[in-house]
Amino acid sequence: MPARGSDQFEKVKKKIAKGEVEKLVKDMVKIPSHPDVPTKEKEVAEFLNEFLRDEGVDSRLRLVEKDRPNVVAVVRGEGGGKSLMLNGHTDTVPPYDMDIPPFTPKVVSGKLYGRGSLDMKGGLGAMAMALVGIRRARVKLAGDLFLTAVVGEERQSEGTEDVVLKGPRADMGIVGEPTDMEIQPSHRGLEWFEIHFHGKAAHGGQADRGVNAISMAARFVNAVEKDLQPRLRARKSKHTLPSTINLGVIQGGQQPSSVADHCVIKVDRRWIPEENLQKVFQEMYDLFDSIKKEDPRFKATLKRDPSNMLTMTHVPNVVSPSHQVVRALESGARTVTGKAPKVTSFWGWTDAALLTHFGKMPTVIFGPGGAGAHARTEYVLVEDLVNCSRIYSSAALQICGGKQAV
Ligand SMILES: [Zn+2]
Repeated sequence: MPARGSDQFEKVKKKIAKGEVEKLVKDMVKIPSHPDVPTKEKEVAEFLNEFLRDEGVDSRLRLVEKDRPNVVAVVRGEGGGKSLMLNGHTDTVPPYDMDIPPFTPKVVSGKLYGRGSLDMKGGLGAMAMALVGIRRARVKLAGDLFLTAVVGEERQSEGTEDVVLKGPRADMGIVGEPTDMEIQPSHRGLEWFEIHFHGKAAHGGQADRGVNAISMAARFVNAVEKDLQPRLRARKSKHTLPSTINLGVIQGGQQPSSVADHCVIKVDRRWIPEENLQKVFQEMYDLFDSIKKEDPRFKATLKRDPSNMLTMTHVPNVVSPSHQVVRALESGARTVTGKAPKVTSFWGWTDAALLTHFGKMPTVIFGPGGAGAHARTEYVLVEDLVNCSRIYSSAALQICGGKQAV
C-alpha cells in the first residue's frame, strides 16, 4: 500500500483505543436484546445509534417491524471509490441457564464474559468503532462505508432481508460473526424441515389393528444413520465443510395405551454449494421410497419449517478467496497483528449469504475469537476486539480509498 495509505491507517489506529472498544461492547452486553425481552432489539439499537451520532457518524434507525429497528450508518465517500458494508446483528439468544451473570459483563484474564459478547456484540462493537475511528481521524473516503446493525439474525434474518430489499447496497461486505480472526469467505446453506409420519390409531391392547407412527419414524432414523449420513460425510465441497443432517426434535403419540397415529421429526440440514435444495428434498423422498419398499404401511410427508426464514432461502455463501474484500482483510490483519490470517470456511450459517446471493454484495465473515456462543459460558477476547476494529478500518481504507482532510 502506498505511504499515504499507511499514514491514514496510523492516524485511524490511534483513534481506536482498546479500552473504548471494550467499553462499547460491555455497554451493549448490558442491554438484553433476546426474543423474550418485550422491546426485543429496540434499546440496544437506540443505544448504538446514539453512540454513533454523538461521534458525528451519520446514523439512523429504520424500523423492520414495530419496535424492531435496524441501525443504518454511513461514513459517506466523496465519490469515485468502491463501497463496503459492515454487518452485524443486535439480537442474541436468550440467557437460558448461563453459569455467568448474562447481562453484567466482566473482564477476567482478557476475556469479556456475557450473553452476546461473542455472538455478536463483540464483532458489532468493533465494526462501530471502525467507523468512529475513520470519522475521528477525519479521513475523507472515496467510496461509502456502511454499517448495518440488524435485528433477528437468530430468528429469521428479518433485519438483513430488510437491508437487501431496501438498501443500502455496497460493492462488498463483511459480517462480523466470531471466526477466531480467520477470514471465512464461504459457508453451507441451512434448511430446516419437518417430516411427518402418519400412522393409524388403535388401542395399545390391540396394537396390530393400528400403524405406529413412532415405529415408522424409527425406521426413518435408522435409514438416515445407515444410508444417508455416510453419503453426506463423503460429499466434500470445494468451498465449505461437508453436508450434514441433524435430527433435532422428535414428537409423537398421546399416551402409553394408544398406538401413535402421528409423529414428527424436525431436521437441520446443512447443504454445500455443489448441492441444491431440490436435490436435498429429493434425497429425502428417495429415502421414503426405499423404506416403503420394505414396509408398504410407511407414510411420510415433508414440510419446510417456516420459522427458519422469512422469504429468502438460507443458501450457502460462496465468495472467492482472491476477492478484493478477502485481500483487504488479509493485508489489514498482517499490518495489525504481524501475522498472516488463515483463510478457512465458517461452520455455521450467517447473514453474509443473503447479502452475497440476494443483495449481490460479495460478503465474507471475519470476527474475534472467544468461546461459548449460545452456551452457558460465553466470552470474547478483548485483545481481538481492538485488533478486529483496526483490521475492519484498514480494510475499509483499502477498499473505499481516501485522503486525509486538511
Ligand atoms: Zn451470530
